[in-house]
Amino acid sequence: MALAQKPDEIEDLTVPLDRVFGFHTFRPNQEEIVRAILARRDVFAVMPTGGGKSLCYQLPAHLLGGVCIVVSPLISLMKDQVDAVRDNGIRAEYFNSSLNGLQRSGVLRRLSSGDLDLLYVAPERFAMESFLAILKAVPICLFAVDEAHCISEWGHDFRPDYLSLSLIVEHFPDSPVAAFTATATKRVQRDIIERLRLRDPHTVRASFDRPNLFYEVVAKDDVERQVLSFLRSRPDESGIIYRTTRADVEYTASFLASHGAKVRPYHAGLDSETRKKNQDAFNRDEINVIVATIAFGMGIDKSNIRFVVHGDLPKNIEGYYQETGRAGRDGEPAHCLLFFGRGDTSTIRYFISQIEDEAQQSIATEKLRQMVHFATINACRRRRLLAYFDETLEADNCGACDVCASGAEQVDAATEAQIIMSAIVRTGGRFGAAHVTDVVTGANTKKIRSLGHNRIKTYGVGRDRPKRYWREIIDALVAQNCIVQTDGEYPVLKLTPEGQEVLFGRQAFRVLVKKKTRRDGQSAVTDDYDRELFERLRSLRRRLAREQDVPPFVVFSDRTLHEMARCFPATPDEMRCITGVGEQKLERYGKDFLSLIVSFRESNPEAGSNAAPLPVPYAPKPRKSPKGETFEITWRLLEEGLSCSQVAEMRGLTAGTIAGHIERLILDGRDIEPDRHVEPAKRLEIERLFKRLGTDNLREIVDASGETISFEDARIIRAALQTNGDQK
Ligand code: ADP
Ligand code: ZN
Repeated sequence: MALAQKPDEIEDLTVPLDRVFGFHTFRPNQEEIVRAILARRDVFAVMPTGGGKSLCYQLPAHLLGGVCIVVSPLISLMKDQVDAVRDNGIRAEYFNSSLNGLQRSGVLRRLSSGDLDLLYVAPERFAMESFLAILKAVPICLFAVDEAHCISEWGHDFRPDYLSLSLIVEHFPDSPVAAFTATATKRVQRDIIERLRLRDPHTVRASFDRPNLFYEVVAKDDVERQVLSFLRSRPDESGIIYRTTRADVEYTASFLASHGAKVRPYHAGLDSETRKKNQDAFNRDEINVIVATIAFGMGIDKSNIRFVVHGDLPKNIEGYYQETGRAGRDGEPAHCLLFFGRGDTSTIRYFISQIEDEAQQSIATEKLRQMVHFATINACRRRRLLAYFDETLEADNCGACDVCASGAEQVDAATEAQIIMSAIVRTGGRFGAAHVTDVVTGANTKKIRSLGHNRIKTYGVGRDRPKRYWREIIDALVAQNCIVQTDGEYPVLKLTPEGQEVLFGRQAFRVLVKKKTRRDGQSAVTDDYDRELFERLRSLRRRLAREQDVPPFVVFSDRTLHEMARCFPATPDEMRCITGVGEQKLERYGKDFLSLIVSFRESNPEAGSNAAPLPVPYAPKPRKSPKGETFEITWRLLEEGLSCSQVAEMRGLTAGTIAGHIERLILDGRDIEPDRHVEPAKRLEIERLFKRLGTDNLREIVDASGETISFEDARIIRAALQTNGDQK
C-alpha cells in the first residue's frame, strides 16, 4: 500500500469516507468499528438494518493491504452487493456456485495477484479444504461475517453451513474477524462470539431505534380498499405489502392492479423464475409495489423502500421489526403501517395450536400476546418496540409514531368499558368479540334473537357509535388486561380481576384518542425537496441503471436524490458535497445529473431560488486515486511502451482490468495516446458510434458494432472523448 500513514494512524477517517463513499459523517458506531478493525481487533456488532454495517468492513478493506473476505449467506444477493461497492471504485468480486469455470478462474487470478479489496463468498466454502488452501496463499486483511446470527441455533434463522466458520480463527490466526448482525438477543450474541471463537472482540450493540421510520397502526376494516387509498396517497413510491397467506397475496395484488397500481405478487407458491422476475422488477423500480408473504425477505437490499404495510397481524415482534426494518435503509423517512383486526389473532392461534412441542407452543403464544399488545397499546409504539429489545426510549414523545405525532389524548372511557364488560357478564362469558359487539350495538341477528340477548340490559345501549368503535374498546380492554380472550377455535371474552375493578367503578379506565392522523414523521425528518425535480432525477437514475444492468439504488440512493432536489447543486464541486457522491460516482454520473438539474433550474427559476444550502461547505479535496499503486504500476508499464494486452499479460490481470486502469488514468489527465492501444480505424468507428447513438453506454456500442469492437477498446476511446469534451 502506498499510503504515507499506516491506516490505524489516520487521524481523520472522514477524508477517505468522503472520497470513496461521498459520505460526510459516520453513522453511529461506524467509526469505532472501523478503527477497531484497522487496529486488527476482532469485532462483534449488532446494528439495525440500514445502520450501515457494510461500510464498517468496506472502508477498512479499502484502506488496508490484502483482501477482505466477506461471508454472506445469500448467493442471490452477492452480485448486487458487488455491483454496489464497485460503483464506489472498490475492487470487488464474488465467488460462488453461480459462476462458471472461466469466471471462477478469473476471480481467483484477481485474488492471487492482489487485485481485490473485497471477495464475497458463501459460508459453505469454508468446509472445503481446497478453498482454505487458496485463501492461505494470499494476504487477508479481514474476515467479515454478515448475518452472523445464522450461526446460532437460538437465532431465528439458523444455517448449519455457518458452523464451518468456526474454522476461520484456527486457520487464519493472524487475520481479524468481524461479525455483523441486525438481530441478536444477548443469548444469540454469546453464541455467535463463542462459535466464531472471537478473541476479546470490540463489541457494539447499537440502538434498535430507527428514527426515520414512522409507525402507525390502523383498525382493519376493508383491508384491500384501505391499502388502495394508502397507495393513492403516495404515488410513485416503492413499498412492500405483507399478507399472511398466498391467497390473500394474490387477491390483494390483483385487486390493486385492477385499480391501476403497479404491483406484482411474491410468495413461495410461484415458480422461482416468476419470483425472481417480480423481485427484479421491484429492485429496478419498474414496479412500485410488491405484495408478498414473508417469504419475501432476506434478499432485499433495496435502500429506497418508502413504506412497509402489514395487511395482517405478524406472529411476533421480531418478525414485525425485521419486516418493517426493510423500509428506509437510506435513512430517509419511511412509513410502517399495520392494519390490526382482532380476527387475525384467532388465525395465528390456530397455527400455534398446530405446533407439537409444548414449550415452543407457549413461547409462540407469549410472542403473539406481545404483538397484540403492541398493536393495541395506548402509548408510543416506538417505546414498546424498543422495550421488547430491552431498550428504553429517552424522549417522552418520539414524534414519529401515530400516537406521538397525532397529539393523542387519553380520555376517560370507563362507561364504555363497563358497557362492554356488562354485556360479557350478562351473556355468561361464553361469546367472542363479534357477538358482544352485536349485542351492545343492538344488531338484529338470528343468534341474538334465538339466545334472547335482545332482552338483556345492555342490548343496544351503544347503538349511537359504530361497531368499529366498540371493537377498539374491546382491544383496549384486552391490552390493559381487563378482559382476556381464551385460546381455542372459538375464543371467548372473559373478565379478569382488573376488569372487575373497572366494572364496579373502583378503578379508572382510559383510552387513547388520536386527534388527527399525520402521514409520515415529518416532524422527525425533513421532507422539503422539489418533488418534480426528484421525479426527473429518478427517471434519469432508472435509465442509467438500466444501461448498466444494475438496480437504480446502486447508482444513487433516494437520499442522495432528495438532497440534489433540495440543494440544486450546479457545479461538479457542489455536486461533490451531496451525501453519497464520491469521486467515482461524480466521474461517472456527475455530468448527467448536473445538466438535468441546471436545465430544470433554468425552466423553473422559482423552484431554484428556494434551494437549500449544501449539507457541507465545499472544500477542495486532494484527488487521489484509491488503491493508487496498481494504477501507477500500469502507468509505468504503459510509459515503457507496452500495449494494453501486454500490460495485462505481464501483470496477470485481464485486459478489461487494464483498460479500466487506462480509462482512469486518461480521466485523471495522464497523457495517454489512444491510438497506441486502439487501431486508428477502430477508433474512428467507435467515435462514430458514440456520436450516432448519442450514448456513453459501452454495451450499446459493442452491440451496435456487431461485436467487432471490444469493450476494452470502447472504454479507452470513451475516456479519451470525455477528456476532450472537458477541454472544449
Ligand atoms: P445494513 O447492512 O446495516 O442494513 P447498509 O450497509 O446496506 O446497511 O447501509 C444502508 C444504507 O445507508 C446504504 O444506502 C448506505 O449507502 C447508507 N450509509 C451507510 N453509511 C452511511 C453514512 N456514514 N452516511 C450516509 N449514508 C450511509
Ligand atoms: Zn411515539
